[in-house]
Order: sequence, then structure tokens, then C-alpha cells
Amino acid sequence: MTNLPPLIDSHCHLDFPEFYPDRSQVISAASEQGIEAICIPGTESRHWKPLLQMCTETIKPVRLYAALGIHPWFIDQHEPDDLQQLVKFFETNQHIVAVGEIGLDFALQSISQKAQEFWFTEQLELARQFRKPVILHARKAHDLILKQLRQKPVKQGGIVHAFSGSEQQAYQYIEQGFCLGFGGGITYPRARKTRALAATLPLGSLVLETDAPDMPLCGFQGQRNEPAQLTEVLKCLADLRPESLTEIAEATRRNTLKILSLPHASYP
Ligand SMILES: [Zn+2]
Repeated sequence: MTNLPPLIDSHCHLDFPEFYPDRSQVISAASEQGIEAICIPGTESRHWKPLLQMCTETIKPVRLYAALGIHPWFIDQHEPDDLQQLVKFFETNQHIVAVGEIGLDFALQSISQKAQEFWFTEQLELARQFRKPVILHARKAHDLILKQLRQKPVKQGGIVHAFSGSEQQAYQYIEQGFCLGFGGGITYPRARKTRALAATLPLGSLVLETDAPDMPLCGFQGQRNEPAQLTEVLKCLADLRPESLTEIAEATRRNTLKILSLPHASYP
């Protein structure tokens, strides 16, 4: 894959315990596959500090960027004080690229929708306040999220990670300045609707992701997913779309750089 433009994994949980034993090897393996940068969305407050530390540590073959936020699955473990802590991080650290991973997951029955809406609304407000894009986790809640975004836009837009909504919802997100993230999900033949969207949505709105260690690709079920697998996601997307592999690699990279305001490094 060395003749391809460098790739960016827009969503990978490198800070999760699954990567504690061999994180530097995982990063090297990603680098060998041409991954130049990885965006790591924070999910709970106790991980924020080590995540930022990991991103600023000395030289690595892959640039690591942090987003900070409270994921809807973990809101029960948080107090409103954590929002103040989050504000402090954004006030004092210029390197945080986005607010995330935040959102609404109404497929999850164990956490009240009302509580989810509280944390989501508060963190959206934070994104507006600090002019940051957001990284969205959205399941069975797209219409409510879109309603909130229409009523009070987030000017910097963001990424809807692992997008699996309808075509209409996809275009509504694009209208709000969002990109749509596609990952291992599109490698499953049964994911017909999502594959059709990945094939036909405007290339200028797509970004690649692995969501590692989650979302293993088809054929790798039950195994830990890794950022090096991003090239397989790219190949799958290229099989589905009319453009060439190189065009898709370049466009998705450019889209990610733009939406997260990342430095362009060496590649044009
Ligand atoms: Zn995630």
C-alpha cells in the first residue's frame, strides 16, 4: 500500500485497556500500513488525562490526536462536576481537536433517554463555546440530534461516527456541516443499506474509521480490531464506489484534515 496517500483513522480507541499490552506495536503496524494519524475520542473522565498524555508523548511513527467527551454509555459514572473538568481541559489545552465521543444511543435501554439528552446537550454547548467540531455516537436517535443541530447549529460541524442512518438523515447531517464515518461495518455483505450509502453519498463528506478495538471487519469477528485495518476499510469502500482507490484515499484524508482542523504535515 506504499504508493497510496497516507490515511487517517478518524475514530480509534487506542486508549482502551485492550491496547495496554502492545500499544506501541499496534501503532507501528498502523504506520507500516500507511496510517499517518489517528484521532482518539475520549469516552469517560478518568481516561482524559492519560489520553492527552499519550497524544503528546515523544516521537511516534503516527500522529495521535485527542477528542474529549463523555460517551452516552458511560454517563452514569459521571457527575455534573465532570463537565467543569471538561471545560478546564478545553480552556487549557490547545491540542484537543474535538468534543467527543458524545451523542445519544436509544438502542441502549439501561440508561435513561432524559439523562442522555442532558449530557449530550451540555457537551454540544461546550463545542459551540470552544468552536470545536463534535464526534457523534448516534443510534436510533438521528432525528432528535438533527433537530437539536438545526435549532442551534454547531458551526464547526463534526463527524457522525459509524453512520448507519437513512439517506435523508445523511444529507441532513451534510447540510449541518458534518462528515459521515464509515468503518468495518461496510465490509459485511448483510449491511446492504449502509453499503449502499457508502457507495453513493458525496465523496467530499466521507471519512474512514476503524473504531478499534471494536467493530472488527468481516472475517475477523471475535478478534480485536486494529487501526492497521483501515486500509481494508478503504479497499472495501473503493470496491463499492466508482472512484479509484487513490482518489478515495486522498479525499477521505482531506475531509478528515479539514473537519478536525488537523495540520497537513508533509503530504500535499
Ligand atoms: Zn467510539
